[in-house]
Order: sequence, then C-alpha cells, then structure tokens
Amino acid sequence: LGEISYRGRITVSIRNLVAVTIRLMSEYGIVLDAGSSHTALYIYKWLADKQNGTGVVTQHRECHVKGGGISSYAGLHGAAGQSLEACLDQAVKDIPKEKHHVTPVYLGATAGMRLLQMSDPEQSAQILQDVGHKIQSYPFNYQGAAILSGQEEGAYGWVTVNYLLENFIKYGFVGHWFSPGRPTVGALDFGGASTQITFATQEELEDTRDTMKLRLYGQEYSLYTHSFLCYGQDQVLKRLLAHIVKSQGYSGAVDHPCYPAGHSRTLQFSSVFNSPCTTESKPSSYNPQEYLTLHGSGHYEHCLGNVSKIFSFDSCPFSQCSFDEVFQPNVSGSYMAFSAFYYVHSFLQRVTGITVSTPSQLEEAVSTVCRMSFSQMLLLAPEQKARLQDYCASSVFVKVLMLRGYGFDEASFPHISFQKKAGDASVGWALGYMLSLSNLLPAETAGLRKALTL
Ligand code: AMP
Repeated sequence: LGEISYRGRITVSIRNLVAVTIRLMSEYGIVLDAGSSHTALYIYKWLADKQNGTGVVTQHRECHVKGGGISSYAGLHGAAGQSLEACLDQAVKDIPKEKHHVTPVYLGATAGMRLLQMSDPEQSAQILQDVGHKIQSYPFNYQGAAILSGQEEGAYGWVTVNYLLENFIKYGFVGHWFSPGRPTVGALDFGGASTQITFATQEELEDTRDTMKLRLYGQEYSLYTHSFLCYGQDQVLKRLLAHIVKSQGYSGAVDHPCYPAGHSRTLQFSSVFNSPCTTESKPSSYNPQEYLTLHGSGHYEHCLGNVSKIFSFDSCPFSQCSFDEVFQPNVSGSYMAFSAFYYVHSFLQRVTGITVSTPSQLEEAVSTVCRMSFSQMLLLAPEQKARLQDYCASSVFVKVLMLRGYGFDEASFPHISFQKKAGDASVGWALGYMLSLSNLLPAETAGLRKALTL
C-alpha cells in the first residue's frame, strides 16, 4: 500500500510539473471582432517555442458582448467602450495573471464601422477612440483598434480557414512539419453588413483591386477577394424592405412577399431608411417617426423577384462578373461558408428536413421555407422566434448570391462546407488577423525546409 501511494504521489507531481511548465510556456493573444451586429472577443493560445508552425495556435475561449455592435453606440459617449467590459473582465480571469502584460490585444471593426465612417466620420473616430481607451484600461498589451478594409476582412478569413484546416503546413507523426501539398480552400463570409468571397486562383485577375498576393511558408498565393458592402444579412433585409416600400408607393401598409402569409409587423420608417445602404430608395421627404405595417404573403416567386432586384446583373465591364460590375474568375475547388451562410443553411436543413448539398436541394429547401407559416416554423425552431420572419428572404438572397452571383453550379456547390467552427475555433477573420499581425505566420520556410530534408 505504501509503495502504491508513493508511486501515486510521483505521478501526481509529474502531472503538476507538466501543467506548470505548459502554463509558463503558453502565450496568449486577444482579438475583439467588432462586427456590425455584435462584438465577439476571442482568446488564442500557443506554446512559446512552437510559434513558427501552423495548427498550433488554438482558441482558448470566446466571449460574446451583450447588445449591438460598436457602431450602434454612435452619439452615446463612452457606451461602446462600456459594452466591452464584461468580456474584457472575463479575459482577465481566463489568462494567467503573469501573462497579462505580454498578451497582445487587437480590436478590428468591419462593415458596420465602414458604413458609419462613410456617413459620420467623426462619430466613427470617436467610437474607435472610446473602445481603444477602454481596452487600454486593462493590463494587456494594447495593439490598436482599427477598421479593416473589405479586402483585409476577406483575406484574413481565408487565412483562418486554411490555417485551421492545416493547408499551409502540417505536423507529421514522425515529429516534423511538412507541406501537405493540398489545394487551399476558399472562404465565403456573410456578415451583418457585408459579404466576402476569397479564393486562390490561377486565372488571370482582370481587376487589380480584387487581387492579393500572399507569401506564406515559402509559398506564393494569388488570391481573388471581393467584399460587397451593403450585402450583409441585416443590410440586405433593410434594402429589401426599402425596395418593397418604394415599389408600393411609400404607403403606410405594404405587402411583404418574403414574410410568412398572415404574419404582420409594424416598424418605423426610420429603421428602414437610417442606413447609407438604403439612400437610393429613400423618399425625398418623409417622417421618420411614422409607422409602417408589413403584411406577409409568403409568395416565393414574388419574393425571388424582389430579392433579385437588390443585385445588378445587367452590365459587366470585364470578360465576366459576379454582379454590380464586379469582376470574378470562375469558382474552383472547395469552400468553407461561415457566419450567416452557416445560420441560414442550418435553419433550412432543420426546418425542411432536406439535406442541402446541391443547387436543386437548395432551391427546394428555400421554396419550402418561403411557403411555411409562422406557426409551423415556430414549432420547429422556437428559439429563433425573433428571426423567423426573415429566413425566407435571407435564404432567397443566399440562393441568388451563390448560384446566380458567384456562379456555383451542380458541380461546384457540393464542394461548399457550411460551418461555424473548425475544430474548437470559430471561423472568421479574427484568427487570421492575429496570426498575421503578431508575426505568427512566417513568409519563409527555414524551419520547414530543414524538416523536409531531415
Ligand atoms: P455575425 O457572424 O455575428 O457577424 O452575424 C452575421 C449575421 O448573422 C448578422 O446579420 C446576424 O444578425 C446574423 N445572425 C446571428 N445569429 C443568427 C441566427 N441564429 N440565424 C440567422 N442569422 C443570425
């Protein structure tokens, strides 16, 4: 018995030693993803001596800020910063105290702030300053608060996806890194205010504005990336409302073909025309406080007709375009579709019971959802109550965007994987942003070449 307890004690102390060593060798990084609809704080973790590899930075924690995105606090002094407190306090607890001062923290804002910067640059600067001050009141190593361009958002999303899938380099069981020699995967991001498409291509890129060259681990990647502002889910729903209200003569009661039949909703005119994305359909004079009642008719074909009007498919100054005169080479290879692409896809599958992996299955699922009543949907997805009225419009939009816009077809659509996580990490631009800004992604492969020739 004495011997067993002696051995047991040795085992316990070795385990403690390993735990303490890992704790001492671990490094952390924080990214605040300040999206248009909400902010998420991600904590990443890696071992100090492994930082030049890939697949070694993992997600340690995530925290979702309550309330709206930082841009929704325009004009409310200090409120955007305050909204981040609960998650920053949580990060203080989640990261060992002795690591706080060496933990970099980045805040990146996306399309919600891009829109505010266009409509009210002073307010947007004020909010960035405000969140910056708040983060600096914490013991971490503040690295700045910035608005990402659409190109950066797309490219960092692509880096995240391929890093998580270990497409750059991979750790072999014999203990060294090697190039898996796999093609990379494209990234499709459907946010609240913008949507991004990014993929590596060998085709000629006719518009240099959509081109990005990256050198990672000694490999050159030629990326096509485009961000469509005002094509995020919330802005699309607003633009659709604006279009419907305008086409029905700005009356106080309108028919909404994408809302479930028999479902009605009342809102103020200001909530439709308060965005730079709806200025085109804005009446020359209107009372923003006036109420507007929407009567759902659940008419799939009319919904499709109205949603299609959001895009412009008429002209293209290049050999080929996705829409809105934007050049796009042919889609090829595999893709990961995340953020609201994932939400819409999983809702469609769940309430219709249809597995959506081909364009015809997508069409069938979308038209099924558009013909469902509010109460039918509520029975199948009660926790989504507040969003149920919008799923038909969002799914029709996703269908038009992916099939007619991006050009996915029977051959390419099945190669899209809809997911919000890869392993334990959330898919989005945040990880790629941190890896790039904290030099965790080497351009060259000194270590890799050595490993390969061993
Ligand atoms: P995020 O990825 O949080 O920036 O959100 C992108 C878009 O997805 C925004 O329009 C959100 O309002 C929306 N969203 C968040 N959760 C859901 C959900 N469960 N179903 C549909 N849309 C969602």
